[in-house]
Order: sequence, then C-alpha cells, then structure tokens
Amino acid sequence: MSPSKSLLIATTNRKKAGEMVQIITGVGLDVTLLTLADFPDAPVVEETGATFVENARLKALAGVHHTGLICIADDGGLVIDALDGQPGVHSHRFLGEHTSFVEKMERILELLRATPDAERTCRFRCAVTIATPEGRIFDSEGVCEGRIAHEMRGEHGFGYDPIFLLPERGKHMAELAPEEKHAISHRGKALAEAVPTLVRLF
Ligand code: IMP
Repeated sequence: MSPSKSLLIATTNRKKAGEMVQIITGVGLDVTLLTLADFPDAPVVEETGATFVENARLKALAGVHHTGLICIADDGGLVIDALDGQPGVHSHRFLGEHTSFVEKMERILELLRATPDAERTCRFRCAVTIATPEGRIFDSEGVCEGRIAHEMRGEHGFGYDPIFLLPERGKHMAELAPEEKHAISHRGKALAEAVPTLVRLF
C-alpha cells in the first residue's frame, strides 16, 4: 500500500467510519481508504479539547503520528439550546460512556418534557480535520439545524439521530436513508468542505 495513496479515517466508531467512507468514496478519489480498525494498536485518543475542532485535531494528529499517513478525523455532537448547549462536546460521554444511547435519549426527552416546541431548537455540529505527515492542518465545519422531538423514531443512522427532528421534512434524522442524511448532515457538509483539500492532496 503506497502511503501517498492512502487516507486514514481516524475513528473507531464503526457507524461513523461507515458514513465517512461512503461520503469520501462518492467523490471518486483514487485513494485507499483505511480506518482505525486497520490499526488495532493505535492509541485511544482522550478527547480533552474544549471544542469540536480541538478534538478533531487531536484525533487527526494522533493518527498521523501512529501511521505516518494523511489522516482525516472528525468530532461532533448534539447542541441543545434549552440545555445550555449540552451535551455538546460531551455527546459521546453524556451520562457516562457505557450508558446506551436509548438511555441518553430518554433522559433528554425527560429533561425537555415541559419545553414547548419553539424552544426545543438544537443542532448537530461537526468539525473535520485533515492532517498531513509534513505538519499541514486543514479544518472544516458543518452544522445541521433541528429540534428535539417528543419521541424516538427511525432505524437508520446512529447516536442521537432518533430524537433529532428535521422540521421542514417532518422526519427524524434516523428516518432518512444514508444518502439523504449525508446530503444534509453536519458531517456531510463538513466533509464536502474538506473535499477540495483531499483532491489537492491526492
Ligand atoms: P465523537 O465525535 O466520536 O467524539 O462523538 C460524537 C458523539 O456525538 C457521537 O457518539 C454521538 O453521540 C453524537 N453524534 C455525532 N454525530 C452524530 C450523528 O450524525 N448522529 C447522531 N449522533 C451523533
């Protein structure tokens, strides 16, 4: 495998890796896509950043140091206005890393039980960082606006998708087929912004 023709998607989240592979494959780059599943010895990165961008950079740089490959990493989460921006950068760790997403979502629905629709505004945010072995760094960001629904719905996607309502479509994010989600999602938008950089690098 030629290092100059390989791109490491630096994530251990299988569903997220799947989404990123799908989106990047769609661009038609002549590149071998690898994920951290191909590097079982890669160190676990502590997400100590205060922002999504800081965490995306930490993950991308750790990937470069471990593999010497060009790396792309993301960090994202759900920002709920009525909860002062929580769970935000703590989306993955909200209520503890080992608490299921069903439990996390049930807690959010409970916390917002008395909150009227107009105040249930929220957004998914995503930061993407590309880092190269020569030390170059490229950041991009994407946002997807929505509302916290009143119940979970849908089988697609992952994480908080079942409670994320897209008001104009009258659908929850987890009800969208993968391609529909990528076209409007925070991650799809951040990756679309990163594509010209990938095209230049490869
Ligand atoms: P990390 O970026 O892997 O640190 O975690 C981000 C966390 O934010 C995920 O574990 C999910 O909880 C949540 N999240 C990020 N993107 C999405 C998405 O597209 N749908 C639902 N939840 C998401």
